[in-house]
Amino acid sequence: MSFEYLGLSDHTLSAIKDAGYDKPTAIQAKAIPSTLQGRDILGIAQTGTGKTASFTLPMIDILSEGRARARMPRSLILEPTRELAAQVAESFEKYGKNTKLSMVLLIGGVAFADQEKLLDRGVDVLIATPGRLMDHMSRGKVMLNGIEILVVDEADRMLDMGFFPDVEKICKSMPAKLQKLFFSATMPKEVKKLTDSFLQDPKEITVTAPTSTASTIRQYLINVAPSDKVKREVLRGLLTSKDVKNGIIFCNRKKDVKIVAKSLKSHGFNADELHGDLHQNTRMEILNNFKQDKIKFLVASDVAARGLDIPDVSHVFNFEVPNNPEDYVHRIGRTGRAGKTGTAYLLASPREKKNLALLTKFLGTEIEVLKAKEPQKEKKKTPPPNKNKPKIKENNNSNAIKKENAPKKNNYKPIVGMGEHVPAFLLRNI
Ligand code: AMP
Repeated sequence: MSFEYLGLSDHTLSAIKDAGYDKPTAIQAKAIPSTLQGRDILGIAQTGTGKTASFTLPMIDILSEGRARARMPRSLILEPTRELAAQVAESFEKYGKNTKLSMVLLIGGVAFADQEKLLDRGVDVLIATPGRLMDHMSRGKVMLNGIEILVVDEADRMLDMGFFPDVEKICKSMPAKLQKLFFSATMPKEVKKLTDSFLQDPKEITVTAPTSTASTIRQYLINVAPSDKVKREVLRGLLTSKDVKNGIIFCNRKKDVKIVAKSLKSHGFNADELHGDLHQNTRMEILNNFKQDKIKFLVASDVAARGLDIPDVSHVFNFEVPNNPEDYVHRIGRTGRAGKTGTAYLLASPREKKNLALLTKFLGTEIEVLKAKEPQKEKKKTPPPNKNKPKIKENNNSNAIKKENAPKKNNYKPIVGMGEHVPAFLLRNI
């Protein structure tokens, strides 16, 4: 199948060619023709499947005829995070470069007045996070009665983040006749309820089963002692494996994102942190640095990293088992994108047994445990002191350290081996 058969215009095909895409992904092949025919779409697809282009490409062609009026955008795309909204805007710029479509990004962290000026000029494509859009609506600066196409992207994430009441309100403010495109990696019952009532005879496209993870991702579980210090040590070992080009390290809480990032930096790793406490401009800058390989490791929270489109991430490291099993699917979906292969590690301590059981149930399969053939005892090598390195405060409680390094009598497994790339410390008894 080639893009030529999907019914897209020549100018869009030319932009696709410039983007370097040879053939449509599964969701693109299925969604583009139906969207061009004006049908509602329910796409169950995770990021990394090419879903952004599956809605932006046909929208560009549909919207390239007609003109926008002040404060009455012609289409609206709702995204759960600012980063994701900014990425969709980038896609519009890339694929719509041969058109004169106007686009406005309504996200927090940018002055209202600047956004209002842009809205006044008329907008073909409005990309927004629900909160900021609601703010503009309540100020009377944007009206939704001119919307011809609505996209709700990452609907399940909107639900997780508590944006769903806003999404429902926004959907209810829409004109009766409009085309609706919904995308979600999973279909929790609240999302299903809304799509059942709101979409009209949608074309349903499922590119992977709701709980499945892309087959291009190798997944490994590493059982680690119940101590964050040990986890950080294991993590450092993994990061120095020779096949690790770059990676995203996910933590459940902002607090841990900061601790892990600080620890990695103090050990000389080229790492930075991405979480919701950072100013929008800083987040974008860090993200760009990561995309441009100026930063090798990004330590991130789920919310900040949701939907990030970074094509070349070789590894994802789950510093913890996520509280919400669906987050795992999203986290590891940062690697193995667009047909490339990737590797995801999950570090789990016995304390996380409950979350791990939930995750295994959700995935419907056990994640392969990395085990050493014969765990060997190895003398701890003390690295030469580096006076220039900033000191990281680790848990220096000698009892805790003794416990971590003690021969095991509990039932967690010794850390693991990894085929030919076994960092020595992973073979040490804990
Ligand atoms: P998405 O699922 O929308 O986040 O897209 C994942 C990645 O796939 C992005 O880096 C896109 O640039 C890339 N991509 C989208 N469509 C194609 C295609 N047809 N061929 C190759 N790469 C693509």
